[in-house]
Amino acid sequence: MSEAPVDVDVFRKEVRTFLDSRYPLRDPLTDDRREDIISRTPGGEGQFVDDAVALQRALAEAGLAAAHVPVEYGGRGLTPAHHKVLEQELRRYDAPSLRPLRIGMHLALATLLRSATDEQKARYVPPLVRAEQQWCQLFSEPDAGSDLVALRTRAVRTGDGWVVNGQKVWSSYASRADFGLLLACTDPDAERPQAGITMFVLDMASPGVEVRPLVDICGGEHFNEVFLKDVRVTDSHVIGEVNHGWTVSQGTLGGERSGYMGGSGGGRRARQVIGAARAASRLDDAVVRQRIADVAAAERMLEWLRDRYADGSLCGGHPAAGSMMKLAGGSLEQRCAELVCDIAGMTAQAWSAADRDGDIAAHDLAATRQARIAGGTHEIQRNLLAERVLGLPRRPS
Ligand SMILES: Cc1cc2nc3c(=O)[nH]c(=O)nc-3n(C[C@H](O)[C@H](O)[C@H](O)COP(=O)(O)OP(=O)(O)OC[C@H]3O[C@@H](n4cnc5c(N)ncnc54)[C@H](O)[C@@H]3O)c2cc1C
Repeated sequence: MSEAPVDVDVFRKEVRTFLDSRYPLRDPLTDDRREDIISRTPGGEGQFVDDAVALQRALAEAGLAAAHVPVEYGGRGLTPAHHKVLEQELRRYDAPSLRPLRIGMHLALATLLRSATDEQKARYVPPLVRAEQQWCQLFSEPDAGSDLVALRTRAVRTGDGWVVNGQKVWSSYASRADFGLLLACTDPDAERPQAGITMFVLDMASPGVEVRPLVDICGGEHFNEVFLKDVRVTDSHVIGEVNHGWTVSQGTLGGERSGYMGGSGGGRRARQVIGAARAASRLDDAVVRQRIADVAAAERMLEWLRDRYADGSLCGGHPAAGSMMKLAGGSLEQRCAELVCDIAGMTAQAWSAADRDGDIAAHDLAATRQARIAGGTHEIQRNLLAERVLGLPRRPS
């Protein structure tokens, strides 16, 4: 169901009116440090999430949060192009980042809209869009990351429900999540392991769910281990069909990879390197200028790739096309952090407490290592593109 068609430009005006009344426009030539500064402040990670939730709620109240979602599930019933307008406009303002809500608003939302029953959609989507409920992704395990099919978390049938036992790891924002997209093995005897996996919605408040935060290389605590001991779920929590979770999860992962912009877009990364060069008085350095141009071009190309993915023309619309986005986005993020450190020189290696530039440069260099891993490592993306898109021989199993 959709409301009466709204022209994209009219929608853009609506978005601008909303943002104008709340946030100043960002100076297009100034480096955007809001995210970096918040995340480097003690307690900043919580603040980062709180700010995102507050913005998402205000957007939802104004009818702008999920333009592409059907009206009956809390959206406007418009198109992905309308939703993209919101993302574009948000980058023009000094507004909080919605990145901490990415798992819910990108992965869970797309998975639910594609594979859930109408009843499940009505139950879960509206509060997700209003940021009243947070989501996490419970796929990876200690011995099942790239090789997700090796997962050991088991869900065993009992009457009309299931009892789940196992352990998940690297579960981003799980300590704040109300629900998780859980992958579990429901048929260990299936001919192919993929045919024995089911996806469930896990209520994170269920008895037997224990979440333990993990500290990452930068001191942040957004990662968690999740232990599941005799956790009960019912058939109403199954997304898609029993033993068809692998197919459902491939859609989730495709969406995760294609949505990977890594904080890039709208020239943010280009501004970041220009800001670093200006601060170090190296804007006239020919080599630095060349490398800045490289980052700016790669960022622009990433945006074009995203447009082509959205209109279905990337890799001829192949489902593995999201891997291209992931490779391009992850590489850009890391390249940008390395350039900022090279420009900053010694100050990115040894900095005083008051030197925020050095601190952020060094922090970014460590933090962006994740870009090659999260959502599937770059090696795995290359395998997928080689085998599925280019048709090269499959790697030996
Ligand atoms: C920031 C961040 C957030 C994350 N958030 C979540 C989350 O919310 N939920 C979740 O479920 N998971 C999450 N993850 C986990 C992520 O999906 C896994 O880390 C990733 O899939 C890799 O798995 P692994 O860590 O087990 O590494 P492994 O699979 O053990 O890989 C180790 C190394 O071997 C290489 N390798 C493995 N197999 C092959 C192969 N066939 N060919 C070539 N090279 C290979 C890999 O490329 C890698 O370099 C997150 C990870 C990060 C970094």
